[in-house]
Amino acid sequence: MKEQQCLHGGEEADESPQNITIKGILGLLMESVDSDDKQVISLGIGDPTVYSCFRATVAAQEAVVDALRCAKFNGYSPTVGLPQTRKAIADYLSNDLPYELSADDVYITAGCTQAIEVALSVLARPGCNILLPKPCFPIYGLCAAFRNIEVRYFDLLSDDGWEVDLHAVEELTDHNTTAMVIINPGNPCGNVYTYQHLEEIAETAKRLGIILIADEVYGHLAFGDNPFVPMGTFGTVAPVLTLGSLSKRWLVPGWRLGWLATTTPDDTFKHAKFVERLKKYSDICGGPATFIQAAVPGIIEGTRDVFFEKNIRLLQQTSDLCYRKMKAISCFSCPSKPQGSMAFMVKLNSYLLKSISDDLDFCFKLAREESVIILPGVAVGLKNWLRITFAAEPSSLEEALERMKSFCERHAR
Ligand SMILES: *Cc1c(COP(=O)(O)O)cnc(C)c1O
Repeated sequence: MKEQQCLHGGEEADESPQNITIKGILGLLMESVDSDDKQVISLGIGDPTVYSCFRATVAAQEAVVDALRCAKFNGYSPTVGLPQTRKAIADYLSNDLPYELSADDVYITAGCTQAIEVALSVLARPGCNILLPKPCFPIYGLCAAFRNIEVRYFDLLSDDGWEVDLHAVEELTDHNTTAMVIINPGNPCGNVYTYQHLEEIAETAKRLGIILIADEVYGHLAFGDNPFVPMGTFGTVAPVLTLGSLSKRWLVPGWRLGWLATTTPDDTFKHAKFVERLKKYSDICGGPATFIQAAVPGIIEGTRDVFFEKNIRLLQQTSDLCYRKMKAISCFSCPSKPQGSMAFMVKLNSYLLKSISDDLDFCFKLAREESVIILPGVAVGLKNWLRITFAAEPSSLEEALERMKSFCERHAR
């Protein structure tokens, strides 16, 4: 009996829709597509590499080939990452900070996903809780559930550019609160926070005595009014853990190269045995393949600005198209224009549609009737919203938007 219970795990692990993974829902949606019908267009998952207009740069490929061919990187790397990789990421992050990070501040992980897992595992304490944004990238809730960390959600304010409800943060925090997560540029919301708002967040974290986990996996992918400002800018105000990866900016999510950086110039993290725990935890994580790590200095040095500029222009164009077209369809409301990342949130006015009960129902019927896959808001914690990925070929995007429009017209009350 006892073993059985262990196998079933805690009841928190699977029950709530919060913990349905994006991949899980998208798989179910795919199954409901009528495959003889139209060609499937997926605006669900944030993997732009399925579209040929989002290709990795040749310089990055060559860096990997060189690292592989030289045969020096067939062995294990140190569990925290190769020294030259840690140094290259430290320098890359320091470019945008008012102080310098050292190689020792950086831990190399298998994508940003593993950086999330490492951060939450190292912070976990009996009885502790963590503050997550709502809506949120669902891996945080899932990971917290596995680590028995209690999750408390604070709202992102849809009418205020998805800014953090800082009053809610104050109310939710108690002496067991260990950290709060800030995703900027934002997934799923497409927000890019101002310098002032980030400063307010840092001041709040300082007052409450909590750590900031800054998910900057979309760092620099900003194309609206606000420039990208890393949370580490305020690392002197509150302790910051910066999470990132090559996945999004370099368009290589399959290379599984990410990092966690202690982005605070003083010794906050060295006290509290945090660094010691980080190192130990690294020992039980297999990081990314050694030759991919070895390629990082070459990838960062070799990537030209034109590569980034081209991708930003394309994302700006596709996000504009998406926003404009969706706004014109009456069953959607778009409170804020996407400013960064590769996705944004749209409100579903299901009362304008007949025989559509909610966002989940909408997505399943849309998949069946139009072969268009989008993510129901419930998967990111916001019922009756939809998350649209705009990192797609403009022609496919246009086609998908047309199909959504005719779907809504056909189902209009
Ligand atoms: C994609 C994504 C991740 C995971 O990044 P990988 O490098 O692919 O593991 C983490 N956080 C957010 C917000 C993301 O969108």
